[in-house]
Amino acid sequence: MAGEPQADCLFCKIVKGEIPATVVRETATTLAFRDISPKAPTHVLVIPKAHYRDAASLATAEPTIAGDVLREAGEVAAQEGVDGSGYRIVLNTGEGAGQTVFHAHAHVLGGRGLEWPPG
Ligand code: AMP
Ligand code: ZN
Repeated sequence: MAGEPQADCLFCKIVKGEIPATVVRETATTLAFRDISPKAPTHVLVIPKAHYRDAASLATAEPTIAGDVLREAGEVAAQEGVDGSGYRIVLNTGEGAGQTVFHAHAHVLGGRGLEWPPG
């Protein structure tokens, strides 16, 4: 069923505590943890606890939770102290755009200069 945990999903396993993660924030609907392979001094992933394959699927099925993810991305940026200097929220969608984990997640990147347009 939509939103239900998937046995073969890495981020569902992190939500269940089956795989460790460095959690920086948690709410009833979201989890924020450090990316295992950081691409910037601050690189945190914010995920919905419910399983959806990408951000648009999440927003279609659960717009309130999609909003929670965005709000938490901002809270992470503030907590990490990168809100003043600027940060980027990235939602890779599809293999061609670099999505490797098919459980919706927002990258919060900051703490260094961020080029525009991104690669
Ligand atoms: P994406 O390529 O947009 O799907 O992002 C997936 C992200 O998950 C990558 O930046 C990975 O470095 C990160 N990642 C993969 N495994 C883990 C893990 N066990 N804990 C934290 N981050 C992870
Ligand atoms: Zn999942």
